[in-house]
Amino acid sequence: MSTIRLDNVTKEFSDVTAVDDVDFEIEDSELLVLVGPSGCGKTTLLRTITGLETPTEGDVYIDENRVTDIPARKRDVALVFQNFALFPHMSVFENISFNLRMQGDLDDGEIEARVEDIAEMLDIDDLLQRDISELSGGQKQRVSLGRAIVTNPAAFMLDEPLANLDANLRDQMETEIVRLQKRLGITTVHVTHNQSEAMTMGDRIAVMNDGEIQQLGSPETVFYEPANLFVARFIGSPTMNLVNATVGDDRVRVGGFGDATLSVPVETDIVGDRSVVLGVRPEHVAVRQDDPGGGEWLSMEVAFEEFHGANRYLFFDPPGIEEFVAQVDSSENVGTGDRVSVRPVPDQVHLFDPASGERID
Ligand code: ATP
Repeated sequence: MSTIRLDNVTKEFSDVTAVDDVDFEIEDSELLVLVGPSGCGKTTLLRTITGLETPTEGDVYIDENRVTDIPARKRDVALVFQNFALFPHMSVFENISFNLRMQGDLDDGEIEARVEDIAEMLDIDDLLQRDISELSGGQKQRVSLGRAIVTNPAAFMLDEPLANLDANLRDQMETEIVRLQKRLGITTVHVTHNQSEAMTMGDRIAVMNDGEIQQLGSPETVFYEPANLFVARFIGSPTMNLVNATVGDDRVRVGGFGDATLSVPVETDIVGDRSVVLGVRPEHVAVRQDDPGGGEWLSMEVAFEEFHGANRYLFFDPPGIEEFVAQVDSSENVGTGDRVSVRPVPDQVHLFDPASGERID
């Protein structure tokens, strides 16, 4: 089993800095998800760990051994791609056993036993004699996972392995990969641009933007304590409500809702008035049908609603603010066209610096 450490890794391609001074450690048996928008440097970082790219600066360590200049084939790190990269004219058995045969360490009987073991784990043991062309997308993805893990690598790198699967199959494979990873206890880096996949799968998540790690933490930390506005916007769906506000005297005041001002108590060390961005997730917006008055609730009309099974999202369109969303229980008797009272739940309010975007505690 293995740890992986990146020490100030930067990767430049002529005028593009794809990875910018990245520094972190992945624990033994951990599943770390690299998540971020297209072009943020996820694949380049993964390829740098694998040895398919050499960093312009910095070092990569596997089990505390510096591997920066060691080629990919000598790093004992398996890579799985989104396009499966299987040999189309070979059977499932031949595909999974390919790397084992190349290594030349095991005899035919041992290879067969090993492949059968892995195929059973991935629930494809009845497909071993099929051609790759006869498989569904999900089955192909299982075969490519099997081919990668059969050699018992020190670490497992997954580059958007679920991107080509439909939504239901993707959900199922998310769970299966995590189960397999936990069962094998193999240190894994999983790349995705999908924040919900990252939240479901990761022991920890590294949120990337513009080549930099914006935040690295457990799914709970990244969700409940986003380090900056980028993370706040990127993680969670629908996204966090963000509005300009002023903090002073242990209250946060939000203008911009037409003529009304909302004033909510907050605990901060801020002394004097300070401009902030107030963030509140839709599930932390309280909604009531009466009007309690007192300046802590805003009266707004529900512009439209979205049904999501147990929950519904109520969308508001207040003047001067792009959009404001509240999540309510589907059993609540409130919907499009209703006038309701709304406010952020006071202890669930996030404050950010408007200039730097950094979180203010
Ligand atoms: P996606 O989710 O779209 O795959 P990504 O987050 O994996 O994106 P990378 O593929 O790592 O991002 O690319 C990061 C940046 O580096 C991009 O601007 C990309 O155009 C650039 N880049 C990647 N590989 C090369 C290369 N071989 N030559 C030049 N530029 C590259």
